[in-house]
Amino acid sequence: MKQRHYHTDDARWQAVENRDANADEQFVFGVITTGIFCRPSCRARHPLRQNIRFFQDIHAAQAAGFRPCKRCQPDKAPLHQQRVERIRRACELMDAREETITLEALAQEMAMSPYHFHRLFKSVTGLTPRAWQTARRHQRLRDALTQGEAVTPAYYQAGFGSGSSYYRDADSALGMTAKQYRSGGKQLSLRYAVVDCHVGRCLVAQSARGICAILLGDDDATLIAELSALFPHAERHLAQNDFSDILEKVIACIHAPDTRLDLPLDFQGTLFQQQVWEALRTIPAGETVSYQMLAAKVGKPNAVRAVASACGANRLAIIVPCHRVIRHDGKLSGYRWGVARKAALLQHEAKKET
Ligand SMILES: [Zn+2]
Repeated sequence: MKQRHYHTDDARWQAVENRDANADEQFVFGVITTGIFCRPSCRARHPLRQNIRFFQDIHAAQAAGFRPCKRCQPDKAPLHQQRVERIRRACELMDAREETITLEALAQEMAMSPYHFHRLFKSVTGLTPRAWQTARRHQRLRDALTQGEAVTPAYYQAGFGSGSSYYRDADSALGMTAKQYRSGGKQLSLRYAVVDCHVGRCLVAQSARGICAILLGDDDATLIAELSALFPHAERHLAQNDFSDILEKVIACIHAPDTRLDLPLDFQGTLFQQQVWEALRTIPAGETVSYQMLAAKVGKPNAVRAVASACGANRLAIIVPCHRVIRHDGKLSGYRWGVARKAALLQHEAKKET
């Protein structure tokens, strides 16, 4: 966690005055005249400073005889976390069912109006519930295919409906007819943001289907240029605040590479590239494989060069860990985002192992 700066009462008061939500997990304040304690971000009118006492946490405030505010509910998980938790439950529910669940049924299940549920779902995942379910089915189809299952049973297992839309769905899932991508993403709309990570700057982009690019670099301009080169005709929008949950999830996965990202991924590539990328995702953090081993893993032991170029075409840095592939003599070989960065990533993961 980042070091915050609320060590002095002046800094704390400042945070209260600004209703600084970043301070919410750092301290609470009690109001002597009412006997109530609040989070720094509480929307209620501010008391006079002289009537305020600061506490490390809710336990200290309660021990001093203060009761939690009904408005900001400092004794409950942050509102934002409660909302994310709800959406997580909705996702589980959708995963557990074969068929598509309607918006109305999901909203009812979550005790929310369809309108609010839809809006909240989209702000947390970046997708509509329907798009999310489609993306997950596609993901299951890819998973089944890389386990070597025949296409048709895999397709049914992945929860696609009747066979009529088989080719259309399979094509879009596998990226084989994804003409819009081949032509550089015409009619495609992406949102993106650039943030810090432990190996420099990181650009995260999301399409309607899921996370479509995670790029690493030293400066934002280069990263944005790389994104334009990958999706030259797509509409690219700098993301707003509602992208922050997604960013947080991606960055958490980048820092702790053994956690699997539970967001839909928008892999766009040939079937072969996608097989290579899925195989890469099975290499645990702290381990490396050679290009030869990876080629054997996807059942094409002679296609070492094609495997290497599929690694080079990876657009989802770290989440698809192409940095875990090294030459059979142990040399690092190349990396799309620089060999020094590859070395740093491997070193970071090796440390985690001990
Ligand atoms: Zn309050």
